[in-house]
Amino acid sequence: MASSSATDTALVWFRRDLRLLDNPALHAAVRSGRKLVCVFIRETRGETPSAPGAASHWWMHHSLTRLAEDLEARGGRLTLRTGDPAELLPALAHEAGSREIYWNRADRPEVDARDCRLAGQLERTGIKARGFRASTLIDPASHLNGSDKPYRVFTPFWKAALRTLDPRDPLPAPTRLTEGADLASEALDDWNLLPSRPNWASGFEVDWTPGEAGAHARLDDFLSGPLAAYPTDRDRPDREGTSRLSPHFAWGEISPRTVWHRARDHAERGGAFQPVEKFLSEVGWRDFAIYLAHHFGDLRASNFNTQFDHFPWRDNAAGLDAWKQGQTGVPIVDAAMRQLWQTGWMHNRTRMIAASYLIKHLGVHWREGMAWFEDTLVDADLNVNAASWQWVAGSGADAAPYFRIFNPVSQGEKFDPDGCYVRRFVPELAKLDSKAIHAPWDQPERILAMAGVTLGKTYPKPIVALKQGRESALAAYQHMRDRASAAAETADAKT
Ligand SMILES: Cc1cc2nc3c(=O)[nH]c(=O)nc-3n(C[C@H](O)[C@H](O)[C@H](O)COP(=O)(O)OP(=O)(O)OC[C@H]3O[C@@H](n4cnc5c(N)ncnc54)[C@H](O)[C@@H]3O)c2cc1C
Repeated sequence: MASSSATDTALVWFRRDLRLLDNPALHAAVRSGRKLVCVFIRETRGETPSAPGAASHWWMHHSLTRLAEDLEARGGRLTLRTGDPAELLPALAHEAGSREIYWNRADRPEVDARDCRLAGQLERTGIKARGFRASTLIDPASHLNGSDKPYRVFTPFWKAALRTLDPRDPLPAPTRLTEGADLASEALDDWNLLPSRPNWASGFEVDWTPGEAGAHARLDDFLSGPLAAYPTDRDRPDREGTSRLSPHFAWGEISPRTVWHRARDHAERGGAFQPVEKFLSEVGWRDFAIYLAHHFGDLRASNFNTQFDHFPWRDNAAGLDAWKQGQTGVPIVDAAMRQLWQTGWMHNRTRMIAASYLIKHLGVHWREGMAWFEDTLVDADLNVNAASWQWVAGSGADAAPYFRIFNPVSQGEKFDPDGCYVRRFVPELAKLDSKAIHAPWDQPERILAMAGVTLGKTYPKPIVALKQGRESALAAYQHMRDRASAAAETADAKT
């Protein structure tokens, strides 16, 4: 048991809020005037269904390293433990001699429910649990439509938000921390979060700087550069046209409030308003995904539109495998999947193209694609990922209609017109010109030979003909509609 008295130490439980600036739980704990004990728990129970995937583990390792350094620079320390928070938190509070635990809400339905129970359990043992909202611009609970119902469509959701939204200024980062008890900590290296044999994350370091400072540097670069052309360039996977803040958001290294204020200040100081508005509306989509989970439950588990419960998904293990490996024979899809593997990230436009291809041309359940993204994206965010997969599938809230099937060739020609994106990630096609590169199967042998391409040898033939994939997708959709109406008629007959 620590020497500090039971009332002068506060426990701060860090989770996906690995930052000092605008961290409501940390701020409140510091304001309480108590000494602090900061902990991060690698959960083995409770949060397991939403445990980070392999690429997120890579990020988590580096982000925790940075957070520990930032705390130490201010006189604090990060204690690491592994286990079930329901068991560990009371024990840690006891060790630290603390009667107050501060944390930011996880904004995941199952985790928030668990934490609510945990708060009750702590209160019963005389430990006060203080929860804060930290990861959204909008408070999901109070943002309702005119009929006091949750929004289901993004545009009215966001329009109403913009009418009332006035996010407070970001809370300052503490300059000095007073460390409470010096608790035993596990060693981060012992968690084995980094891949070694093989080190598939070697390419990640080129693209990413995890941690709060990395997040701010990324935002600075974006505001002073790509933001100006964001409304058009955001759709171009061949350009560095977006902020690439998503993994920093996913780990809470920067808050949406900070981003909001920095972007608005930038516009007010002479940057154009329109790009800022477009950019912030995308940040709004992130809020919307969290909002949907808050009101409608976990979108990972079930179709938002229950008609899709009748969808005849195909058992297409070979197709799924080729998709994961970037070997479908469709250049823009393969480039996207290889970008994901090499960098841990994929451009939004190509996420839509690759997801649509898997779901529609290959007939594979959106949940399979979602799971692969959860494992391989450094920005894997369970709410946003599930909402996005359902958006593409047509089963989600405010989703793209299922029958609007992306043609990967015309998408490639439109959004990667010079073929630079495909050339970068599918080098075996690099010598094809920009016209040929998106549909090599349509090219005469002579053109392919001149570019050193032999389909089926140096690069796969398409695993499914696009026309045939589209037709079977539409047939499956019709099948679902027939089954859903038959089921509705049966249900009506029973009532
Ligand atoms: C199938 C699919 C799966 C996805 N999975 C994830 C995921 O796991 N994690 C994730 O953060 N994003 C996901 N997205 C959304 C989007 O692709 C990424 O947020 C975006 O590409 C990140 O790049 P950026 O930071 O440069 O975005 P920017 O264009 O700079 O946007 C700024 C921020 O707004 C948010 N944002 C942007 N687009 C979207 C969107 N369509 N939906 C919700 N929020 C958005 C992100 O937080 C992003 O960092 C997914 C999209 C699709 C189609």
